[in-house]
Amino acid sequence: MSDRNDDLFSAARAVIPGGVNSPVRAYGSVGGTPRFLASAQGATVTDAAGTTYIDLVASWGPALLGHAHPEVVQAVQEAATRGLSFGAPTEGEVELAALIADRVRFGEIRPIERVRLVSTGTEATMTAIRLARGATGRDLLVKFAGHYHGHSDGLLAAAGSGVATLALPGSAGVPAPIAAQTLVIDYNDPEALAAVFAEHGPRIAAVIVEASAANMGVVAPLPGFNRLIADTAHAHGALMILDEVLTGFRVHPAGFWGLQAAEGEDYLPDIVTFGKVVGGGMPLAALGGRTDVMDLLAPLGPVYQAGTLSGNPLSVAAGVATLRLATPEVYATIDAAADRLSRALDAALTDAGVEHAVAKAGNLFNASFRPSAPRDYAEAQAQETFRYAPFFHSLREQGIALPPSVFEAWFLTAAHGDEELLRIEAALPLAAAAAASARP
Ligand SMILES: *Cc1c(COP(=O)(O)O)cnc(C)c1O
Repeated sequence: MSDRNDDLFSAARAVIPGGVNSPVRAYGSVGGTPRFLASAQGATVTDAAGTTYIDLVASWGPALLGHAHPEVVQAVQEAATRGLSFGAPTEGEVELAALIADRVRFGEIRPIERVRLVSTGTEATMTAIRLARGATGRDLLVKFAGHYHGHSDGLLAAAGSGVATLALPGSAGVPAPIAAQTLVIDYNDPEALAAVFAEHGPRIAAVIVEASAANMGVVAPLPGFNRLIADTAHAHGALMILDEVLTGFRVHPAGFWGLQAAEGEDYLPDIVTFGKVVGGGMPLAALGGRTDVMDLLAPLGPVYQAGTLSGNPLSVAAGVATLRLATPEVYATIDAAADRLSRALDAALTDAGVEHAVAKAGNLFNASFRPSAPRDYAEAQAQETFRYAPFFHSLREQGIALPPSVFEAWFLTAAHGDEELLRIEAALPLAAAAAASARP
């Protein structure tokens, strides 16, 4: 039975490689036809065939307030009437940068004194790395296996979900000399961290780390690990780049850093990157840090970075409106929903007799089909991934849209209320049974 989604996918594949503009959208690991979305509202998305789903993707995070929040949409519409792009500074950019800097604080501790706005998370991390190299005069970068920091050269080594789903070690087209500037070590492994600095310390510009890994499934840092990264990097004259593109303004008003600070784990990253929520669904990302580091960026300093669409007025309007509306109540709502749903997920899989572990980091969570929650990339990959496709499709048939890969977090929004949660809870047992009867 073919529907409008199938027709569109055929047409798309005739003109777009794989029919999609970002690989995970192609349903490669779950099979079947991707839903072409026509609209989204609150907690739901509606596809081209007119079917509405309760959404647990939230545009991979940005829809913190729910899709098409009326005040965010209105802010964008009003901005649009004033002009789509100027290529000149605007008042809104000042407001957004100040909002970001002000939110990321714990008492007197403020890791972000200056902010630069860019258009994608990839640009933010790419610029952060160039900045760290410019600041230290060193070349090497340390990253963790399974962590994703966007698709720039040198960051695609062992890079988590997208490449994990495709079972690629990295990417073709990255020159070996560039890949060689990235040292990949195991996550949550203090000895590996010590060893890489013992061997290469004086040549390491920075360690880049997801504030809490969420692109290989949800894999939280072990207690003290982020602080250890900061301390180790600083002891060797290197910088810590904390990648909060996914976690920033999603798990806590001050990001995962803020969540950890509130729980007593204090550390000071040198550069922090944001994306996803900070643009409220529009193309916008940011990097921030101490003044002495950030002021190395052009036009003040020698580290070049630029963008025709950087600080785009529509994106900025969406970002400002989203951050203003992202109150403590919003986080409390999402946290409670995540607690409830992660428990229901755990119970459904347990009742169906499926070996699994539900992992949580703040309000991010997902299940992996293995006996214990993974602590690193090797463990994340060592699971019965074949159980995910039937689980995913069962929920889809019941009107629930999950991320189309087992290596992704589930994303809730403030628009997921009791009604939506009840519907998801009611659908989970059948999906768990489908996972239970799956065969490799
Ligand atoms: C999504 C993501 C990126 C890349 O952001 P894009 O806007 O897709 O380029 C970088 N880092 C992390 C942790 C992410 O989750």
